[in-house]
Amino acid sequence: MTSNNMPHERPVVLAIAGLDPSGGAGLQADIQTMTALQCHCISVITTNTVQDSCRLHLSQPVTAELIDHQLRVLETDFGISAIKLGALGSADNAVVVAQFIQRIKAQNPALPVILDPVLSASTGGQLGDAALQQSLIDDIIPLCTLITPNEPELSILADDSSAESAAIRLAELGASVLITGGHNRDHDHNTLENRLIMGSHPSGHPKRWTIKLIEGEFRGTGCTFSSAIAGYMAFGLPMTQAIEKAQDFVSYAVENAYSLSSGQRVPLRI
Ligand code: PLP
Repeated sequence: MTSNNMPHERPVVLAIAGLDPSGGAGLQADIQTMTALQCHCISVITTNTVQDSCRLHLSQPVTAELIDHQLRVLETDFGISAIKLGALGSADNAVVVAQFIQRIKAQNPALPVILDPVLSASTGGQLGDAALQQSLIDDIIPLCTLITPNEPELSILADDSSAESAAIRLAELGASVLITGGHNRDHDHNTLENRLIMGSHPSGHPKRWTIKLIEGEFRGTGCTFSSAIAGYMAFGLPMTQAIEKAQDFVSYAVENAYSLSSGQRVPLRI
């Protein structure tokens, strides 16, 4: 409560993602990031994983029926200001998530929907099969405002000679595409580059940001980045401005990352 006993207003952001029990990535990273941005995160688990800080041992998708039930209950109760999608677990899950987005967008067509098309864990190991990949293309991406693939994810989703032409093919489905540079670092210049291709203008020149490279292996940076974009857009920031503020958030979190074990370091999100 505030000093005059009036409740604070917080935008509600829905995270639909997988659980990483090691706490570095997935839903826990999403909740921390959105909370740090002063959003209220409501969350739906798509897949329960078995992971430590070094390895993915198992991913066991939750049933589509349970996810559908959770989403139907949440949508009648909350005014949702943005949605972040991470690992969806299975094609069946992607279909019920797509049906939910269609329902909620029928009420609010401008609702920001940000997809981090997670197909593998930070340490490697599959978080999605070929059917899920196809469902992302057919059912989910056409409903998104922005998707945030790294280069390995891009080459799986749209096999093409270059990352940019793959991104253009995905942008032609309607969503803007932010190619995240974390997997394509320029160590000579201590930089990485993020590139944005607008869904409204796929063949135009991408907008580019050069980011200072922080050396090391980090967990959950993609989750943090996409959640921060969703959080800033939930406050009403335009997409490009939300991306810029989210880049600053991730840079700070990575620069101040902490170690818990021998595995990847965890960004300081909160
Ligand atoms: N979602 C889950 C459940 C994960 O376990 C991971 C990585 O391990 C991710 C998403 C992706 O993490 P990153 O942000 O590193 O791409």
